Amino acid sequence: MSLLLTGITELTTNDPARGDGAADPGDALLGIVRDAALVVSADGEIEWVGPAAQAPDADDHRHLGGRAVIPGFVDSHTHLVFAGDRSAEFAARMTGTPYDGGGIAVSVAATRAASDDDLRARVAARVAEMRAQGTTTVEIKSGYGLTLDDELRSLRIARELTPHTTFLGAHVVPGEYATQRAAYVDLVTGPMLDAVVADGPTSLAESIDVFCEPHSTHAFDGDESRTILEAGRAAGLALRVHGNQLGHGPGVRLACELGARSVDHCTYLRDADVDALVAARGTTVATLLPGVEFSTRSPYPDARALIDAGVDVALASDCNPGTCYSSSIPFAIALAVREMGMTPAEALHAATAVSARSLGLDRRVAPGQPAELAVIDAPSHLHLAYRAGVPIVRALDL
Ligand SMILES: [Zn+2]
Repeated sequence: MSLLLTGITELTTNDPARGDGAADPGDALLGIVRDAALVVSADGEIEWVGPAAQAPDADDHRHLGGRAVIPGFVDSHTHLVFAGDRSAEFAARMTGTPYDGGGIAVSVAATRAASDDDLRARVAARVAEMRAQGTTTVEIKSGYGLTLDDELRSLRIARELTPHTTFLGAHVVPGEYATQRAAYVDLVTGPMLDAVVADGPTSLAESIDVFCEPHSTHAFDGDESRTILEAGRAAGLALRVHGNQLGHGPGVRLACELGARSVDHCTYLRDADVDALVAARGTTVATLLPGVEFSTRSPYPDARALIDAGVDVALASDCNPGTCYSSSIPFAIALAVREMGMTPAEALHAATAVSARSLGLDRRVAPGQPAELAVIDAPSHLHLAYRAGVPIVRALDL
């Protein structure tokens, strides 16, 4: 049964060619169609997009009651596979304890101790929580196992919920390797990586990631990060990098040099880093994670400067138990607009089209694309940031 959707006050298509030609630059960026309609096929594919007045017939019809429809959010950076509770660490940080990456060990211990079923239920609940806030596509990293078996288990559980899984054995050096860093890098690039790709390069993980952060004694320096990323690339994985989160460092330039799909955080950038991101446009996206700066009371990255320089900027949640236990992309959008100088249109585009591109996806609302959509209980996308904290957006169940 094909389905005709009407009652759409404003449709964001992310397809500038499809927009109804408004002079507003935000409308042009988002390819806005007003008084729109959509036809979705029985197998969930978009068949037709355009003004409601020109809509064709379909087998079934649903009126959305005068709401805005947007592409579902693509959360391209999450760490959902974990057990344990670090709320006390958050409370301590709010009263002055600095963050240095060390708390990850708490989640590692709890995750290793959890049963498969417990871990699976926790991850599924988090994905459902995201869907209830408009996220239809999610990337999930491993990285709280840090043994061969626990990393594989994390990836298998994540893979049950999304094809966009990322091997993050190089999240931190686990405590048992604290005095043998080189041996841990050998484990990640040898037996762990071999096991991840044993059934084919993308059977368990689509990408490899590394926490490149010389300012944390638990994370990896530039040389270690290069070794890990080059090994992942040789094994057939796409590259992602946590870079320049806690201070200036080599992560952004390394990601750009190696053709990573995304370098994430980008909180501390020098001109050379911005130049590298501009040169890597079309290949490497800068994924900003403002929920982390909010939750760690840190300075926000300068999104305005990056966009003005011509960098591809994405937004994601970084949902994780330590530095940002928020799964909310609307919250990230509100922070991007309020704290980082992004326009509402740029923020929505960053959390859909650009974050999708960092996962190798096309997130336009166009014929032939999957109908991964979200609906807003408001007449326009402006309400996402305007009504911060109010649950007005959710994935559209067809
Ligand atoms: Zn992260």
